[in-house]
Amino acid sequence: MAMVAKIAPQPVPRIAPREDLNPFRIAQIQFDLAAEYLKLDAGLRQILRTPKRVLEVSIPTKMDNGQVKVFTGYRVQHNVTRGPSKGGLRYHPGVTPDEVKALAMWMTWKTATVNIPFGGGKGGVICDPKRMSKPELERMTRRYTSEILPLIGPEQDIPAPDVYTDSQTMAWMMDTYSMTKGYSTLGVVTGKPVSIGGSEGRKDATARGCLVVVEEACKVKKMSLRGSSVAIQGFGNTGSQVARLFAEKKARVIAISDSRGGVFNSRGIDPLKAMRYKERSGTVVGMPGTSRISNDDLLTMKCDILVPAALENVITLNNADQIKAKIVAEAANGPTTPHADEVLARKGILLLPDILTNAGGVTVSYFEWVQDLQSFFWPVSEVTMKLETVMRQAFHEVHDSMRKHRAHMRTGAYVLAVGRVADATLVRGLFP
Ligand code: NAD
Repeated sequence: MAMVAKIAPQPVPRIAPREDLNPFRIAQIQFDLAAEYLKLDAGLRQILRTPKRVLEVSIPTKMDNGQVKVFTGYRVQHNVTRGPSKGGLRYHPGVTPDEVKALAMWMTWKTATVNIPFGGGKGGVICDPKRMSKPELERMTRRYTSEILPLIGPEQDIPAPDVYTDSQTMAWMMDTYSMTKGYSTLGVVTGKPVSIGGSEGRKDATARGCLVVVEEACKVKKMSLRGSSVAIQGFGNTGSQVARLFAEKKARVIAISDSRGGVFNSRGIDPLKAMRYKERSGTVVGMPGTSRISNDDLLTMKCDILVPAALENVITLNNADQIKAKIVAEAANGPTTPHADEVLARKGILLLPDILTNAGGVTVSYFEWVQDLQSFFWPVSEVTMKLETVMRQAFHEVHDSMRKHRAHMRTGAYVLAVGRVADATLVRGLFP
């Protein structure tokens, strides 16, 4: 199929003057820009800009005080044309159906960007996991899993960790699914503990993929990562590993943050000490040898590389003009609005888009799924080598696409990814 080859350079369609922070509408705007470049026909656009399935479930959960609380959860499958849907599960009080739809859609483009045989899906439960005990989280997770059970499975839809979920959450999901089926099904989730079919190298895969993308971007910008100053918003699974890996490359991590605020030291913060401090006190705020800053200060501070690694919509029209980094590497999903994209591009800031930059996680999730299906497990060196190959190739394909279409990196990535999914859709044809 020669869909991508037919593209002629197009002026970017104008987006509405008012900034809309609804993540699903943002995802659709990003898709529409790529659809214009690709000259997709109207029917195909409608198929690709809408989720395939949206399931809302209620999750009655016995709390430790004996009372029952009913949580609301979602599982969205955006697209399964190129393989089973794949995407994380988020526990957060701010989860909305539109957020889950956006995250599912971004997963479709992400798996296509790195060219792995998955579609896109996502799950979320509206809850405040910080105020729940471990037994409460386990009971809620198991009931949620049982409610979405008809939709998930190694050949259908494969969840993984996201914000405020982790390998333990995946172990409970895998066990619940397996007990219901009557046999152990390793490939139903990824990001599991290694003892039950998790992959070596999954824990830092998102960060390692981000590192490869930033290293390649530094070559393009003729910058050295060594000695560069880095500010990281969000010191969770992804952000803390980004800090560790960047520091190993002798970059200077000058600021980190979490939901309670941020800390700064111009001479550099030791990520391992910060991890230990956060483990003990639940936040990075107050870490000895640092001064306190706000999350807003972190985003606009003078640094070479800014890594948003928390939530959506943190770089908007409100602050995009004040961003001073040379590179913005989106480890989080959806941190930058389309309006802010245009401001950053005007300022000459290289934005490395989420669907490329944080795709290391889903890439090693793919490796985990392959290992589970084969019951044959790889050493970490093999996982890392394969991951770096995939990420490096994806970076250059996106960069080539960007240059070819004289667009910015996000559009380059979208044209590549949407083109792949569109090609697959056309060659399969419409059922019935
Ligand atoms: P996590 O729960 O481990 O960490 C989230 C971090 O963000 C925590 O440190 C939290 O304190 C911080 N945070 C929450 N609200 C914040 C706020 N308002 N301001 C600043 N910091 C805040 O989650 P994670 O898995 O590291 O995910 C982070 C981002 O990376 C999300 O956008 C997620 O979708 C994306 N992502 C994660 C993976 C993965 O493998 N875990 C893969 C791809 C993308």
